[in-house]
Amino acid sequence: MSKKPYRIAVIPGDGIGKEVMPEGLRVIETAAKKHGVAVQFDHFDFSSYDYYEKHGQMMPDDWKAQIGGHDAIYFGAVGWPAKIADHVSLWGSLIKFRREFDQYVNLRPVRLMPGVPSPLANRKPGDIDFWVVRENTEGEYSSVGGRMFPDTDREFVTQQTVMTRTGVDRILKFAFELAQSRPKKHLTSATKSNGISITMPYWDERVEAMAKNYPGVKWDKYHIDILTANFVLHPDWFDVVVGSNLFGDILSDLGPACTGTIGIAPSGNINPERNFPSVFEPVHGSAPDIAGQGIANPIGMIWSGAMMLEHLGEKEAAQAIVGAIERTLGERTLRTRDLGGNADTTACGKAVADMVD
Ligand code: ATP
Ligand code: MG
Repeated sequence: MSKKPYRIAVIPGDGIGKEVMPEGLRVIETAAKKHGVAVQFDHFDFSSYDYYEKHGQMMPDDWKAQIGGHDAIYFGAVGWPAKIADHVSLWGSLIKFRREFDQYVNLRPVRLMPGVPSPLANRKPGDIDFWVVRENTEGEYSSVGGRMFPDTDREFVTQQTVMTRTGVDRILKFAFELAQSRPKKHLTSATKSNGISITMPYWDERVEAMAKNYPGVKWDKYHIDILTANFVLHPDWFDVVVGSNLFGDILSDLGPACTGTIGIAPSGNINPERNFPSVFEPVHGSAPDIAGQGIANPIGMIWSGAMMLEHLGEKEAAQAIVGAIERTLGERTLRTRDLGGNADTTACGKAVADMVD
C-alpha cells in the first residue's frame, strides 16, 4: 500500500443517512484492505439537523476549500422536512456540488439482484443489467424563458432547452466509453426528434458523430415514449442508455424502479475528468419516517461506495463489493425488513462486509 491514500470526504447528512453511512464505510474499508487500496475518510457534518439548525445554512462558507481537494465525496442523505424545506437542504448542498464541481454525468445502475422482488414478471437476476447515463447540467433544465402578460388571457409562457456542443459531446463521450468497457458494447440513445424538432435532431446528429470514434460499439436510438415502454417490456435489450437531462431523469427513476426497491439503488454525480470530486450517494433520501429505528437498508449506501471505488479506478475492490451485495441479498435472513428479512441496518452491513472477497 505504498500509493497515496484516496481522500474521501464523508458527509452522512441527516436521518437514515447517518445510519447507513457507517455500513458503507465498513464495507469500503474491508474491500480496500483486501485489495490493497488505501483510503482516508474525512468526516463533515454538513446537514440540516446538525449544521443548518446551528448556522442557518447547510455548509460553511468555505465548503469548497474544505472538500474541493478530495478525490470523491461519499454522501448519505440530507433533509429534515419537519423543520427545513427539502429544496433548502438540496440547493444548499447537493446542487451546489453538482454545479461547482461540474458533475455533468448522473449515473445509475439498473441491475436485478437476487432476493429483490421486481415488478416485472418472469425476470431473473442476470436478465437485467444496464446503466442509465443522464446529462446533468443543461438541456431541458436550463432556466431560460419567461412569462408575459401574467394573469390575463394573453398569458404567454416559454422555457427553452439549451444544448451546447461541449455539453452534448461530453456526456455522449462518457456513455460511449462506458459502453466500450462492457462486454456487450451496446449504447442506446433516448431521443424525440419526431416531436422536438430542433434540439433533438441535434442530439441525434452528435450521437452519430461520436459513434464514429467508437467503431466497436453497436448503437441504436429510440424515441423516449417507446423507450420507456421497452424498459418495462424488454429490459434485457439494454447495456448503456444515454439521455438528455429530462429524458435521463425519467429513465434513471424508471430503470431502478423496474429492478426493486429504493433501499438498494445507488447513484453517482460524476466529473469524469476528476478535476473536481464526484458525489456518490444512495438514491433514497433521509427517510424521516423510519429514521432512528436502525432498520434502514444500507445496500444503496454500500453499492454507492462500490461505484465510488470504480470511479477512482479500483475495479477489483468495486466488483468485490457488488458480489458481496449479491450474495447477501440472496439470503433472506441477511436482508432488511423492506426486503422481507429481519436483519437490522448493522447486521446487514456486517453481512456484506463478511462476504467481500
Ligand atoms: P427526503 O425528504 O430526504 O427525500 P423522503 O422520505 O421524502 O426523504 P425517501 O427517503 O426516499 O424520501 O423515502 C421514501 C420511502 O422509502 C420512505 O417510506 C422510506 O421509509 C423508504 N425508504 C427509503 N430509503 C430506505 C432504506 N434505505 N431502507 C428502507 N426503507 C427506505
Ligand atoms: Mg422527500
